[in-house]
Amino acid sequence: MKTNLKDYTIQELAEITTGFGEPKFRAKQIFEWLYRGVRSFDEMTNLPKAFRERLNEKFSVSRVKIAKKFVSSIDETRRYLLQLDDDNYIESVLMKYHHGYTICVSTQVGCAMGCAFCASTRGGKVRNLTAGEIIDQVMTVGEDLGDRISNIVLMGMGEPLDNFDNVMRFLENVNSPHGLSVGQRHITLSTCGLADRIYELADRQLQITLSVSLHAPNDEKRSDIMPVNRRYNIEKLMAACRYYIEKTNRRISFEYTLISGVNDTETEARELLKLISPMLCHVNLIPVNRVRETGFSASGAAAVERFRGILEKGGISATVRREMGADISAACGQLRAAAENLA
Ligand code: SAH
Repeated sequence: MKTNLKDYTIQELAEITTGFGEPKFRAKQIFEWLYRGVRSFDEMTNLPKAFRERLNEKFSVSRVKIAKKFVSSIDETRRYLLQLDDDNYIESVLMKYHHGYTICVSTQVGCAMGCAFCASTRGGKVRNLTAGEIIDQVMTVGEDLGDRISNIVLMGMGEPLDNFDNVMRFLENVNSPHGLSVGQRHITLSTCGLADRIYELADRQLQITLSVSLHAPNDEKRSDIMPVNRRYNIEKLMAACRYYIEKTNRRISFEYTLISGVNDTETEARELLKLISPMLCHVNLIPVNRVRETGFSASGAAAVERFRGILEKGGISATVRREMGADISAACGQLRAAAENLA
């Protein structure tokens, strides 16, 4: 299969163009065409025809295809099942907020992390997405919408820090003024807690928001529902988080999914408060989305409010994530799982 040119950064494209004996500035020309949404080399009209043909022999500019689309009648949330060149499927979800559109993109086909409550990990990890396939989600959904997508969250299928190099290329290209020009502060990367990669990310000193999926306040419980905790326990994870804050001066956002009878008691709220209290952070509480066969159900409204109240009283800002696209099961890998019979 041909390699997609959107998989490369502008510097990498420069190496490719000089490899063809073409001047470096061709890389910028190609790069700009790519993010203007061309679908063939013939559209790159400022490149010599012979060069276009040689590129076409080795590379592609193809796009992911929309296999299915669902639009929520409650809140206009859109859920897309997208088909890749090798016929794997991924999902993207588009949400409408008062400040604009946010897209939730996938970074892998499947996921290797094995969180007990998550649908994306049920069939294991199939493969990493390339940078182009991640950026294609933004471009393809944006075109279908006919409007600008201003915010991106890497919270779809997959663990972004388990696909580190491609995700870094994606961030560079989506942020580039010659690419999609999305500001770093409008991008959130969510991780289940690969601590060593959090250090690496911190050293890049980006201004993106780091979101850490915590989901439990102690090792016993966290290891129970998130196997990654056996590799990087809470102490190691918190040390990495503190390093991230110190390096970037950015507030971390902790995700805490509330599962009835599992992690939603008063004691657990206090334990969480104690764990994160001195940190520059925010907590997103998410009543767990039901995934068939996990046996988990969401905490009730009273338990959610009690949990939030304890954090707020302790001086930690905490919000409850509003459920969106409830009528089209827009949450967490449910669409692909259904399409491939994994759930
Ligand atoms: N792998 C990354 C990003 C993808 S998951 C991570 O773990 O952060 C995005 C978020 O959705 C994570 O916080 C994840 O724990 C959460 N999530 C997964 N399944 C869920 C479910 N059934 N209900 C609520 N949140 C869920």
